[in-house]
Amino acid sequence: MGDEPGITRDRIYGDVEYRGKRFGLIDTGGIIPNDDALIPTEILKQAKIALEMASHILFVIDGRTEITSADRDLSKLLRTLGKPLTLVVNKIDAKVRENLVHEFYSLGLGDPAAVSAEHKLGIDELLSDVTEPFPKYDAEAEQAEEDGPQGKRIKVAIIGRPNVGKSTLLNALVGSERSIVSPVAGTTRDAVDESVVDGDTTYRFVDTAGIRRKGKTTEMTEKLAVIMARRNIRMANVALLVIDASEGVVGADATIAGYAHEEGRAVIVVVNKWDKMTDEKGKRAFTESVKDELKFLDYAPVIFASAKNGEGIRKIFTTIRRCYDNASKRVTTGELNRFMETVEFDGDTKVYYITQASMRPPTFLVFTDKAGQLHFSTERFLMNRLRERFGFEGTPIVIKTKRR
Ligand code: GDP
Repeated sequence: MGDEPGITRDRIYGDVEYRGKRFGLIDTGGIIPNDDALIPTEILKQAKIALEMASHILFVIDGRTEITSADRDLSKLLRTLGKPLTLVVNKIDAKVRENLVHEFYSLGLGDPAAVSAEHKLGIDELLSDVTEPFPKYDAEAEQAEEDGPQGKRIKVAIIGRPNVGKSTLLNALVGSERSIVSPVAGTTRDAVDESVVDGDTTYRFVDTAGIRRKGKTTEMTEKLAVIMARRNIRMANVALLVIDASEGVVGADATIAGYAHEEGRAVIVVVNKWDKMTDEKGKRAFTESVKDELKFLDYAPVIFASAKNGEGIRKIFTTIRRCYDNASKRVTTGELNRFMETVEFDGDTKVYYITQASMRPPTFLVFTDKAGQLHFSTERFLMNRLRERFGFEGTPIVIKTKRR
């Protein structure tokens, strides 16, 4: 929270990795309970959703001023949430001040953490305490959990701006007759996943409570939709980016798509509400405009659907499975190097050999005679050749270089 309460800032979300633990950080902006004059209700609403989503709340208070009645009101309100909560007393940059911290016990929030954000004092201790119960990020364990003995288990996130039809699409996906719907309570209180079993594949749609919550979408700002999307992308193997056909690709669609790409997830663009489109010349032109607006997603298949009429649903399932398999593909070093013999690099980069380091996304390690990344155009060229030869539709691929 800043010095001026109630001011919306642009940067409200950050990603943090601390000692092998990954988490997101949301800054709610200043909150003063019951003060409509100072705080626009929109900010309070945003703060409320942020608090609901959070697994730990940091209540930051200015250590150089007296405790106000607003601080007490907010303490009371936060306690009712029943979530792990730390009172952070900021601007404590001298020993003298540390004594003052004791006054803050009266808020009833337990041991206060004394910090100076400006001078970076007490931050490590705070982070260490807060992240203590957080799970360590373990890619291998995650993978083992994904592919159970019964077959493939694919985690799917449905992401997109408010009102593009995510909740209607979810209904169409889990409501089709061959589906078995089984809500699985997730780790956080709020998250509910729903699964569809089809043959040897389980499609698990993550955090469907977030999509289904009544009235949420109309209240929710685009900014928050972006935050939710970001969180859900991380929980998934495949992201369905839903776009409203009648609106085309807009800025927030691109932002959300960018996150999915950066996180290395497989992405499928679902152009929903296609039933609204009357001129049928559209599909090819629309696909082109999607590719144009979302250039970095050139690998993502585009599916036209009507969640309302159930059109395109079958195709979405088969495409999810195909893209997941592509993202999980392993190419042997032998195959890769036979392939490399057929590739002619221009410029003066010498490539000795190539090997696949990991999957989801497919990540290749290229051994060259130079330090540093490949030149952009060389990397692009190699990616395209890899796609042509091995077919990685739907998934980003990553190329890393190593000097031999
Ligand atoms: P969400 O906010 O992304 O979850 O969007 P909703 O699923 O709540 O849908 C927003 C509005 O779009 C609702 O009025 C839906 O009935 C409507 N809608 C959703 N899918 C379609 C579709 O395929 N065709 C049409 N014509 N309308 C749709």
